[in-house]
Amino acid sequence: MKIPLIDLRAGYLSLQDEINSAVTSVLSSGNYILGPNVQALEKEIADYCGTKFAVSVANGTDALVLCLDAYGIGPGDEVITTPYSFFATAEAISRVGATPVFVDIDEASYNIDYKKIENSITKRTKAILPVHLFGQPAPMDNIMDIANRYNLIVIEDACQAIGASFRGRKTGSLGHAACFSFFPTKNLGGYGDGGMITTNNEELAGRIRILRAHGSSKKYYNSIIGYNSRLDELQAAILRVKLGHLDSWNEARRVKAERYNNLLQGQGIKLPEAGSELEHVYHLYILRHPKRAEIIEGLQNRQIGCGIYYPLPLHRQEAYMLEYSDIYLPVVEAVYKETFAIPLFPEMTDEQQTFVAAELGKILEEIER
Ligand SMILES: *Cc1c(COP(=O)(O)O)cnc(C)c1O
Repeated sequence: MKIPLIDLRAGYLSLQDEINSAVTSVLSSGNYILGPNVQALEKEIADYCGTKFAVSVANGTDALVLCLDAYGIGPGDEVITTPYSFFATAEAISRVGATPVFVDIDEASYNIDYKKIENSITKRTKAILPVHLFGQPAPMDNIMDIANRYNLIVIEDACQAIGASFRGRKTGSLGHAACFSFFPTKNLGGYGDGGMITTNNEELAGRIRILRAHGSSKKYYNSIIGYNSRLDELQAAILRVKLGHLDSWNEARRVKAERYNNLLQGQGIKLPEAGSELEHVYHLYILRHPKRAEIIEGLQNRQIGCGIYYPLPLHRQEAYMLEYSDIYLPVVEAVYKETFAIPLFPEMTDEQQTFVAAELGKILEEIER
């Protein structure tokens, strides 16, 4: 049985009629950029996350860049973040001219280790940018406590965790601002690129609205140097359809993760550890084993999809290697060599999942021998 890591086509087919009619109605409307669907989606995402404002942009990376820019973060400023994320997290900090400061991760959750943040704060520190990695919220109460004591801005990179919650509050509402991506593989994904910033800060939301449209609030009058970074109507219409299903998809992911945990426990492989006061949305189901290469080879031989997230921590990427050659972060440097993802998506059948778990069990048995 061939099983992909994620099946985007199955997601589309499950909503084909609804999506097609949303797309057709945009195409026949004549309104393609920043129209009624974008406006409605911004309101719906703000309501969903429990914030006053949401501003859409072209993608999740731009959400981070425009948010940092709108806060006036730039050259000479430091932003504390995690070394274990998609490249865009650090790239956005560098793109505005600021310096990423990498703090090691917590071995259980793979999120930033809040206990190590204070040691990295300097006079130049302006913000903390935690990532809710793989769908699990970072320890936001501890992070906000540190930020309040040092007067720092907290921007959540919630690109992998829309719908997740921490102590009953949704990601997107936990920091001063938060960034989402609607890249097709994300828990809420469009059929192209898209992004969103959520915040309760009216001034910030206003500034991002100006930045995304060439620094103008009145057409052809440009008050500042901005960007061209807007969500289009087609993606907004598609995302509005999909938003109505997000909670049930996230619940399906949780049920399947729980089922994997039961099927794989006691076989000498480290399972994901979800914190007790949060709701994980399992953007990816991540396992850890010292013999990762052999396991992946076994899965590939059986046509079971798997992936490495991420093959390098950010400070070891070529773009940062020289600048950060003198830092050593022991936890992430041990973890990143051993983690991998196995198939998990809302439309996955029990039969497919049972097969993956059984085959993985056989591979683990062979390795033990
Ligand atoms: C996907 C992702 C981004 C970037 O989003 P794009 O829409 O691809 O630009 C940023 N941070 C994290 C953690 C992501 O997973």
